[in-house]
Amino acid sequence: MNLQTKALHAGYEKGAEGAMAVPIYQTTAYEFRDVEHAGNLFALKELGYIYTRLNNPTTDVFEKRFAELEGGEAAIATASGMSAIFYAIANAAEAGDNIICAYQVYGGALTQASHTLKRFGIEARFFDVHDTVAMEKLIDDKTKVIFFESLTNPSIDVADIEAITTIANRHGILTVVDNTVATPVLCKPFEHGADITVHSASKYTTGQGLAIGGILVERKNLLEKLKANPRYPQFNEPDASYHGLVYVDVPLPPYTLRTRLSLLRDLGAVVSPFNSWLFIQGIETFALRMREHSSNALKLAQFLEAHPKVKKVNYPGLQSDSNYANAQKYFKNGASSGLLSFEVDTLEAATKLVNATEIYSLVVNIGDSKSIITHPASTTHQQLNAQELEACGVQPGLVRISCGLEFIDDLIADLKQAIEA
Ligand code: PLP
Repeated sequence: MNLQTKALHAGYEKGAEGAMAVPIYQTTAYEFRDVEHAGNLFALKELGYIYTRLNNPTTDVFEKRFAELEGGEAAIATASGMSAIFYAIANAAEAGDNIICAYQVYGGALTQASHTLKRFGIEARFFDVHDTVAMEKLIDDKTKVIFFESLTNPSIDVADIEAITTIANRHGILTVVDNTVATPVLCKPFEHGADITVHSASKYTTGQGLAIGGILVERKNLLEKLKANPRYPQFNEPDASYHGLVYVDVPLPPYTLRTRLSLLRDLGAVVSPFNSWLFIQGIETFALRMREHSSNALKLAQFLEAHPKVKKVNYPGLQSDSNYANAQKYFKNGASSGLLSFEVDTLEAATKLVNATEIYSLVVNIGDSKSIITHPASTTHQQLNAQELEACGVQPGLVRISCGLEFIDDLIADLKQAIEA
């Protein structure tokens, strides 16, 4: 079935009322039939609803539908993209372990890796997403995850997913790919060897800047990689916190199961049913929007490339871009999403033009139907030092645009007057 059809139907079976729209189950808890039923649910002898921190029927539809779009086996929705990233890593790595993380990731993911994970005893080792030789040298027995973005924010690089996953698979290491910017509409990391994907649903999934949420998706047959893999005893040995459950022995997708039963249970960064419902609405138009975002962004990038005051444009859909070949290989029809960045001479020139735009909103978000402009060096990447800024490709004159769904001639005209102001 085509993705557009799945986006409208997957994961939802109408109840007796025949409601066309997925109902919102705005409830904290669920009544058990009797004590035996309650016991069976807790023991996983029967599957069902216990408490909305663990699962919820509206969120179930969001999870199932998103897993289908991504081509995965199961998904788990979270309170934010950041918590999805944390869960994906914390499910594999513990104190004393390390993860390998691309420099070119979202600023929040970078600080989570370099500062917050460190407080939990997990070391982060960084690599340039285009240098897989250097990446492999960072691997040792304690490496549990290789984390990178398929289409990076804000440097707009396209990872060579197969080059990274081939190395990871040779060492039996899990790869976690943040597929937020590329989206399941344009890019399918599982078809290129990735194990887990994470998304900030706050971006293109909701599509209109309506809600914060995240989602973690597990590929099909991940069990085979985890079973008897000495790197991951937590999936192969009894879990003392869940009456001795051995995750690889349960006939359920192990990565999302363990995330739900331990991390979601104990840390509780869960999505609200209402936000899951908003994400379901967004998914209905996902494919249509991504097509339009990509086409608008390409035209805007072409305009910028021809402008004398613009030093450099980063957009993988441009033939001149160093990521063009990867975009053609990994993105559907080479369509490269709505994110682009460009560089002007100085920090002053960048801030002046950002202030002069009228249609573009100065907002630290991406993936909204409304166009957004940002200056990463003074906002999202402010906490990074000069070396970190350089490594993740954030120059002082860099301006990032999340190209929305306005009429393209209006977007070009507004940017032109702002650059020339
Ligand atoms: N991943 C990427 C690529 C992002 O751009 C962001 C936020 O901008 C996140 C993750 C974090 O998502 P959230 O803001 O939903 O926590």
